[in-house]
Amino acid sequence: MTLSLNRERNSREVVVGNTPLGGAHPIRIQSMAKTDTRDVPATVQQCQQAFDTGAHYMRISIPDTHSLKALEKIKNKLVVSGYPQPLIADIHYSSDLAEKAAGVAEKIRINPANFGSSPVRHAHYSKQNLSSQYASGRANEQLMDNLAAVTRACKKHGTAIRLGGNTGSLRTDQREGHSQRGSIHLINKMSKYIDIMEELDFRDIVISIKASHPAETVEASRLMYRTLQQSEKNYPLHIGVTESGMGLSGRISSALGILPLLQDGIADTIRVSLTEKPVHEIAFAKHLLQSAGTRFLKTCKSEVCNNILEMSTQARDTDALVSEAVSTFLAMAGKPNIHHITIEAPNITDQRVAEEVALLLMEHTGISSAGTRFISCPACARTSTDMEELCRVFRKELAGFPGITIAIMGCMVNGPGEMAVADYGVIASSKGKVNVFKSGRSIRNNATAEEAVDLIKLSLSEKSR
Ligand code: SF4
Repeated sequence: MTLSLNRERNSREVVVGNTPLGGAHPIRIQSMAKTDTRDVPATVQQCQQAFDTGAHYMRISIPDTHSLKALEKIKNKLVVSGYPQPLIADIHYSSDLAEKAAGVAEKIRINPANFGSSPVRHAHYSKQNLSSQYASGRANEQLMDNLAAVTRACKKHGTAIRLGGNTGSLRTDQREGHSQRGSIHLINKMSKYIDIMEELDFRDIVISIKASHPAETVEASRLMYRTLQQSEKNYPLHIGVTESGMGLSGRISSALGILPLLQDGIADTIRVSLTEKPVHEIAFAKHLLQSAGTRFLKTCKSEVCNNILEMSTQARDTDALVSEAVSTFLAMAGKPNIHHITIEAPNITDQRVAEEVALLLMEHTGISSAGTRFISCPACARTSTDMEELCRVFRKELAGFPGITIAIMGCMVNGPGEMAVADYGVIASSKGKVNVFKSGRSIRNNATAEEAVDLIKLSLSEKSR
C-alpha cells in the first residue's frame, strides 16, 4: 500500500535498496524488530509480519558481531521468502560494526550522541567522571577517522546512512533538562558529521533528531530542518518520538510529536516507537498519515464552545480515534482557553476509550495533570527484558502521581539522557532485574521490578510528607 501526503519540501532522493526515500517519493513507514537479532527465525518472522502490515523498511539492532552474522542470514531468508524490502542496521557506539554492517544492510543508522564511544565509558556520564580522552583532540581526530571509514564503506556498497540523534543518548552534562541545549549540541555534531561525509562525496544521508517528549521532538526537528535549509542542504528527514510508551498514552505522545511535522511537510519517513509489537507501530503510523491535517469537530456555533473542545468522529477503532483526536486538537491549538476536551465516537463500542483518550490528551498537552507520565523505550535486541511486561507492572503500580515522570529503559543506550530528566527511572540490567535511579542518581542496582516499585513508592511517600 502506498501512502502519500502533500509535501512542501523538495528533499534529496536517497537510495535505500529497492525503496528510495525523499524526493517525490511517498512518506515511508518503518519499524524496528524487537527480537534478539541472533534468533534468526524469530527476527525473520517479525520482519515478514511488519512488511505484510505495510512497513517499507525494518530496522534491526546490531549490538555485536554475532548479531551482524545473523543479519546476513536474516537478509537472505527474507529475500528467498519473497521479502526484498530494505533492512537498516541499528548501530550504537561501535564504528567497526557500522563499517561491517554497511556490506549487509541497505542503510545503517549511527547515533552521533554515542558514535565511537564505548558503552562502559559512556555509562559514566556525570561531569566529574568525564574521561579526559573525550575532550582531547586526539580522540576527536580518531572519531572523525572512524566516521570517514564508515562513510567509505557505505559508499563502496551503495548503503545509506541515517545520522540518528537522540537526546536520551546524551550525557547528563550535554543535556541539562528539557532545554534546547541537548538538541543544539546534537545538531552541531550532526552538521560536523555531514561536512565530513560530503568531503568524501557521500550524500546518501538521512537525518533525525528525536526526544521522548513530543514538544521537544517537534522543536528539535524544526531546528534541524532550519539548520539544514540555512546551509542549503536538503537531506531527507526521519521523524518520530522516541520512547513514547505504550497503549493509548504512547499513541497520543507519538501523534503529538509526528503530526505537526507531517503538517509542516518536512517528514520523509516516520517511525512510531511503541513498547508493543512492530505491527502495532505500523498500523498506527498509517493512521497518522491518513489523519494529518484533518479535523473532526462536533457541529457547534464556535469551534471551541465555552472553552470546551468538542470533537466528533466516525472512527471505528482506537488507532483512528487517537490520530483523529490529536489531529483535531492540533488544528485548534492556536485557539486560547481550551480547558476541557470531549470526544463523541459512536462507532467505538466501549465509550470509556473515547473518555480516556480525551483525558490523556488533556494530560499530554498540559491542560490537566492527573497521573504519572511514563516514558518507555520500544525495546530491541539490546535488552533481554520483556519490556511490555515491565511497563505493565510500573504503570499499574505507579499510575497516580501527577507531575512525576518515570522512565523505563531496556538498556543504557538512551538511559543517561532520560535518567537526567525523569524523576525516577529504571534501566534493565540482567534478565528480570533493573537498576533504579532517582533524579539521575543511581539508588539501587539489580532490583526486581517489585523491589523497584516499592523503592519508588517509598521515596514518593517521603517526598509528600
Ligand atoms: S533503550 Fe530500548 S530501544 Fe533503545 S537501544 Fe536500548 S533496548 Fe533498544
